[in-house]
Amino acid sequence: MINGSCLCGAIEYEVEEIPGKIYNCHCSQCRKSHGAAFATQVFARGATLRFIKGEELLKEYRQVPGHGVIRAFCSKCGSRLMN
Ligand SMILES: [Zn+2]
Ligand SMILES: [Zn+2]
Repeated sequence: MINGSCLCGAIEYEVEEIPGKIYNCHCSQCRKSHGAAFATQVFARGATLRFIKGEELLKEYRQVPGHGVIRAFCSKCGSRLMN
């Protein structure tokens, strides 16, 4: 089991496994979203992801309303948690 949390600890989650690759995306939208030269991406199966606490604090930002990438973050501390 792999555990994680946001910076302030209000949101905690666990996931059974990371089945795919982990990579750094250097596209312009990831660079802007992270305020850095790249964003590290990790993919997990949604069915194996479980929030331990704070799921209600997760907020979403859709770059293109109706479709496209959803960027989710903690509404208390701003930590990016999901793309
Ligand atoms: Zn937080
Ligand atoms: Zn990207």
